[in-house]
Amino acid sequence: MIQKSLAEISRMVTTVNDISQFSQAEVKGVSIDSRKIEPGNLFVPFKGENADGHRFVEDAIKKGAGAAFWQKDVPNPPEHMPIIIVEDTLTALQELARNYRNELGVKVLGITGSNGKTTTKDMAASLLGLQFKVQKTEGNFNNHIGLPLTILRLEEDTEVAVLEMGMSSKGEIEFLTKLARPDAVIITNIGESHLLDLGSREAIADAKLEIIQGLKEEGLIIFHGDEPLLQERLEGYSGKGQLKTFGKSSRNDLHPVEIVPTASGNIFTTNLGEQSFDLPVLGTHNILNALAAMLAANFFGISFGQMNKGFEGLKLTNMRMELVEGAKGERIINDAYNASPTSMKAAIELVSNLSGYSRKILVLGDMLELGPEEEAYHYQIGESIDARAIDFLLTFGRLGDFIAQGARNNLGENRVFSFRNKEGLINELKKLTTSETLVLVKASRGMKLEDAVASLQ
Ligand code: ATP
Ligand code: MG
Repeated sequence: MIQKSLAEISRMVTTVNDISQFSQAEVKGVSIDSRKIEPGNLFVPFKGENADGHRFVEDAIKKGAGAAFWQKDVPNPPEHMPIIIVEDTLTALQELARNYRNELGVKVLGITGSNGKTTTKDMAASLLGLQFKVQKTEGNFNNHIGLPLTILRLEEDTEVAVLEMGMSSKGEIEFLTKLARPDAVIITNIGESHLLDLGSREAIADAKLEIIQGLKEEGLIIFHGDEPLLQERLEGYSGKGQLKTFGKSSRNDLHPVEIVPTASGNIFTTNLGEQSFDLPVLGTHNILNALAAMLAANFFGISFGQMNKGFEGLKLTNMRMELVEGAKGERIINDAYNASPTSMKAAIELVSNLSGYSRKILVLGDMLELGPEEEAYHYQIGESIDARAIDFLLTFGRLGDFIAQGARNNLGENRVFSFRNKEGLINELKKLTTSETLVLVKASRGMKLEDAVASLQ
């Protein structure tokens, strides 16, 4: 993590006050949460709408913070303390991260896309770890605050940083990529998330492509080649970097040839040759994430031949297609981390295709932030459920009702239950599960459907 004297910090950010009396003091690491201050941290308060972080500055310094930023327009900065006054604390944090990144010799892989960013990040980091000292975005720290914090956590001897870049509106990825200056970038896919903010899938595609703007001259652009919106936009591309595609179809630079789903993952071969890859993660969409990660790792110098070793130790960040066991021995796929129509369909398809269970139950909740067409999106999910493959559907939430409505034609009344309260849902679910049941639990984060998973454990 960043470790600097205040004299150095004041050269890296534009400061308002004179801090020369503290110029020898050092900071180590950055924190924006005064409750989690580690000794020496630079504390960065934000002037939020509800709470003003400046109230905690004195406390943070008493708890051991090495220094703190202070936004100029906030009155009464504490005296006799290492306070660095700046125009705007968020801008200063970003400025510090930008300058720190430029000092580092680290190579950067930047990842964006509608779904699969965190998963692809974890996979790529695991592969790159075979040969390099790697650091990656922790959890989901992927926005205008999370990315700077992630960069400021990088150690000087880290060789590759794998950074997730998220967005909810136009211009955000441009900002993040210009800060991170990646050597290679991945666009996992274009889905429907953030339709509410951006209006159309075309606009989402354009926003994701902003990631190229920060790419190094000799860089690599890896993208989902089966996505027409990306194909169209990159056809005849003559900008910086070279292009590589991954996807299911054989038009892609890297694509699967044979796929054998197993109880806990997938074994697949590719157009590269005989070698089979053993991916301990469920879902065919995760093969696509793996292909993207493989192209990236190869660009940085990992040979395809050694990649199985990197997949072996793979541990994904929680609640993304996580396979857990219930108290009765039932298998539960906990995908309660998030949901969009694309990822919902992918997860349902996965469950539909898995064999070896006498009963399959879908527990699906609201997909949030889909905009004016939200009800139709939910209804279509319901319609797409295959009555031969799925035994019961339990929905949760107002929009969940539309999934249930869409499914009733196929599954019939008595295999579809919709709930507005979680207890009712959990009671019904407990009645329906047996030791040979497979349950998929999926909804947007805000629905907290992991409660249903916990109730079975
Ligand atoms: P966020 O925007 O919340 O950061 P993310 O892009 O990081 O999401 P992940 O956390 O990796 O995405 O995965 C979220 C969910 O999206 C997974 O649980 C899975 O259901 C689905 N998903 C992952 N990869 C893909 C993919 N390539 N195509 C479709 N759906 C996917
Ligand atoms: Mg993520």
